[in-house]
Amino acid sequence: MRTTVCELVPKTQASASQERPRRPYLARFDEMKATQQLPSPTGVALEIVRLTQDESVSCGSLARVLMADPVLSGKVIKYANSALMQTGRSVNSVQEAVLRLGVGTLRRIALSFSLISAYRQGRCAAFDYHGFWSRSLAQGVAAQELARQTRLVPPDEAFTTGLLAHIGQLALACVYPDKYAEVLRQAADQCLEGLLRLEQEVFAAHHGELSAAMFLDWGLPAEQAAAVERYVFGEPEDCYDSMRRLVRILRVAQTLAELCLSGADHRATIAQQLLARSMPLQLEPLQLAELFDRIARDWQNWGRILDIRTQTVGSIRDLVQNTEPPRSDTSPPAAPATGIVSGSVWRALVVCPPMPSSQSLCQTLQQAGYEVLTAPNAESGLALVLETLPQFILAPLHFAEKTGDQTARSVWEAGRWCRQLRETRLGRQLYIVLFGEQPKEEQIVAAFEAGADDVVIWPSSPRILLARLRAGQRVLELQREVECEQEELRRVTAELAIANRKLQDAALTDPLTHLPNRRYAFERLQQEWHEAMRHELPLACLMLDVDHFKQINDTYGHDVGDLVLHQLAELLRSAIRRSDVACRIGGEEFFIVCPRTTGQGAAALAERIRHLAEEKTWGNEKTPLRVTLSIGVATRRENMRSPEELFRQADQALYAAKQAGRNRVCCAS
Ligand code: GH3
Ligand code: MG
Ligand code: MG
Repeated sequence: MRTTVCELVPKTQASASQERPRRPYLARFDEMKATQQLPSPTGVALEIVRLTQDESVSCGSLARVLMADPVLSGKVIKYANSALMQTGRSVNSVQEAVLRLGVGTLRRIALSFSLISAYRQGRCAAFDYHGFWSRSLAQGVAAQELARQTRLVPPDEAFTTGLLAHIGQLALACVYPDKYAEVLRQAADQCLEGLLRLEQEVFAAHHGELSAAMFLDWGLPAEQAAAVERYVFGEPEDCYDSMRRLVRILRVAQTLAELCLSGADHRATIAQQLLARSMPLQLEPLQLAELFDRIARDWQNWGRILDIRTQTVGSIRDLVQNTEPPRSDTSPPAAPATGIVSGSVWRALVVCPPMPSSQSLCQTLQQAGYEVLTAPNAESGLALVLETLPQFILAPLHFAEKTGDQTARSVWEAGRWCRQLRETRLGRQLYIVLFGEQPKEEQIVAAFEAGADDVVIWPSSPRILLARLRAGQRVLELQREVECEQEELRRVTAELAIANRKLQDAALTDPLTHLPNRRYAFERLQQEWHEAMRHELPLACLMLDVDHFKQINDTYGHDVGDLVLHQLAELLRSAIRRSDVACRIGGEEFFIVCPRTTGQGAAALAERIRHLAEEKTWGNEKTPLRVTLSIGVATRRENMRSPEELFRQADQALYAAKQAGRNRVCCAS
């Protein structure tokens, strides 16, 4: 955990804007932190937050830490299985849940869950702890759903940011219970902005600033911290795109949360604010109403998982449709969201030379909210597909197209163009609609065979055309979901493969010396045995045992014993060839496989190791020691039947060395 908090500007921005003076509220935060009363994740969750600062932390170690807290483990598994994760297969173990969620998500939910369970009550009389979490949960869920719909920020990042956006309030209630109770009473009739200003007057820091300082203190990204610090006051003018997107999401999420909790009297006013704030996100009233239904459902689901009070919420369909949206939100006009095709605006490309039917088509699409692009011919149409990535293509079944010399006329072949498009990866994702005034039966069949998704009569009823395009939207959305799931599957598979490899490594490694263990030694000996048989190569092995090791333990303690084992592992590593493998097969017993090595070579190696050990000063400065080794050497012979026999012979040779007085090498005859 970091102990001090830096400025709320991501690194790239900070370097551009030079050194800024330290903000005054940070002094307040440090003071609050020193009281040790600040809300903070405890025990296992804190350890997870700490471990996950290192992105390369293994899922296995996270799972082990998580398992120490059965309640938190249960909630994490429940979350991984909840409808909120929207993935198919069910998760049954902590390990699987960790793999499914990934490191970032785990950090976020461990942090959120542990805070919620630890701060359900407190000493600030005017602070409604349950109400606080209920509202925060609604804002988190709303932010997540908005992020999913608009694809402006990753959904679970939006969730934590929404959930913890007002955590500074809880901090004030924990650290200054009486003073904050007074502030809350004074601000009872005021809006959120009013409360923040009063907090600023009384504490020289408002809770948005404190939330931001806490985000940084927990190692959450600076961008999220900056967004929670300022979002209540509108879209900051000086912010960069990614922060602006998060601010917009938070503003709409806060209003949606308000709607979840409000009584009937206030709904109309809040709905009006909602329409205004949603403008930059380009959400239509009907979309908002559908989104709100999902949020209300998720809020209740989450409430059950986290044991937080929620309530049944009515639809806002009538409310938003009958409410006149104000001209605009107080924020500056929307900046285009760079690089992101907005999930809520569909882009349609009409490939057709200007003629009355195509013009009326474009008009109908525009009026229905589509972003419409046009291309006068097949060639420019193809170029625009690549450039603008539309979701819909509309083209006539046939028309006469002028070619370069202006006199010759060729007939547009919609079928061939469709086929060409479908051959590309991009083209396969498009929804292609062909239209004609009176399409003939063969033309319709041929169009579908060429890869069209729909054939419509145009000019005709705009309502029918738009209804068919809505069916297309459903197909495209489904396609997008499948892609997301595939992406998720690829991610999980990759993480699983890494985790598997780490597990396998762990199963074959001795944890004390990091040498391969007994199991590996046998597997390797078998491999080398078959290799030697096949190619008629020599194969030898050494069995080593520390002399009177028990005495070292008894005299100097187990730690010194362990140190000697470490030092021996090092000595073996440095003494053997790259093709040899040294393994620890028991307490103070080691085994070396020496492929392509004769008995003579192996005996020389054994003698070298014995000599090095005898000459070396072992232990540490405080307890320098003398240590000797006994070594048995065995070589594969024609009449041997198995690698086990070779192993046994090395063991017998070692026994002989011990019998003969230790500190010596014996070779199996
Ligand atoms: P010998 O010369 O006959 O081999 O005598 P020895 O004392 O080395 O053999 P013995 O088998 O009697 O004792 C081996 C000791 O090694 C006993 C056990 O406590 C100790 N030992 C086993 N594993 C470890 C370990 O991981 N660390 C430490 N420090 N000691 C260990
Ligand atoms: Mg032994
Ligand atoms: Mg021994």
